[in-house]
Amino acid sequence: MNNRFEKPIVSFDGPFDKPLLSLVVPLFNERPMLPLFFDRVLPVLAKLDLYWEVVLVDDGSSDGSTQYIRDVIARTPGVRLVKLSRNFGKEAAMTAGLEHAKGDAIIVLDADLQDPPEQIPAMVECWQSGVDVVLMQRRSRAGETAFKRWSAHLFYRLLNRTSRTNIPVDTGDFRLMSRKAVDALLALQERNRYMKGLFAWIGMPTQVIQYDRECRVAGETKWDYPALVGLALEGLTSFSVSPLRWATMIGLIAASMGAIFGLWIVVKALMLGDATSGYPSLVAIISFLGGIQLMSIGIVGEYVGKTYIESKQRPVYLTDEVIESQDGARQQATRKTTEARHVKAV
Ligand code: UDP
Ligand code: MG
Repeated sequence: MNNRFEKPIVSFDGPFDKPLLSLVVPLFNERPMLPLFFDRVLPVLAKLDLYWEVVLVDDGSSDGSTQYIRDVIARTPGVRLVKLSRNFGKEAAMTAGLEHAKGDAIIVLDADLQDPPEQIPAMVECWQSGVDVVLMQRRSRAGETAFKRWSAHLFYRLLNRTSRTNIPVDTGDFRLMSRKAVDALLALQERNRYMKGLFAWIGMPTQVIQYDRECRVAGETKWDYPALVGLALEGLTSFSVSPLRWATMIGLIAASMGAIFGLWIVVKALMLGDATSGYPSLVAIISFLGGIQLMSIGIVGEYVGKTYIESKQRPVYLTDEVIESQDGARQQATRKTTEARHVKAV
């Protein structure tokens, strides 16, 4: 077996002398963050010995983020903006970014700097050693409440219990993927894009790097608890049909308990001559069963709703415009010239 570590770059099989790294950055109303973002990301990229591009996906911002990015693009080669026609949500924005990224390796990064860009060189190094996916696992989560940490922990465990796809614990969307992994991901056509699940579904050789998640420097999180509960439900029902089975099981248990209880009442009446009493217990049982029935219908509804949305075959997002600097194109041209030179030299 050839030793992957002997070759400096093995995962790259593009036509150029150096691989292209794409950063995909979904953002929604992150205007206060953007100057800091570029201040921290661009120096890291400049130090890398590869071509790079930053694909920012503006997920319907209305706070001047778009204009700020336009100005940055005017003076920074290699930065591109994919502006969606409205807010489609982070999952759709990431899909848009991945579809527009041209890189041989692609890193998904939040605009709020909670995913430290200083980790990028380590991720690239890992990829160059031959893995397709470099997963970033949170060692700690600064600036998040104990309840959020606890609920996130519980959710990941529950998700992994219910689905056959193993979704790694404490990983977010921050990760590097090879071109092969991204192509595989984009081949998944579903409209309900629960990205953490889709990322895990494709499998492929993976390496985990641990990092300390930082606080949000400015702005505020776009996920309130109802949105998080929605995402959790989405995750559970996108990747497993176990909840349907739970509904059946709970129904079975409740029905058995009801039967045993009924039998017990009959026996008690026959043997002890005890007239059946108990209006309160009747009410309790009826509301308990009613609750279970409603919950089960709700679970079934989740799946019916998903099937309905899938059946409409709507696109995951709509692009309003793509803005790219002239120099960005020139950078691509440089890549081609280098390629020509490279071919000549061979
Ligand atoms: N985001 C997005 N569309 C949305 C919500 C969020 O593109 O509808 C972006 C947001 O701008 C940020 C990233 O997704 O870059 C993560 O969002 P946030 O920081 O609010 O989530 P958290 O880190 O709290 O999970
Ligand atoms: Mg964040």
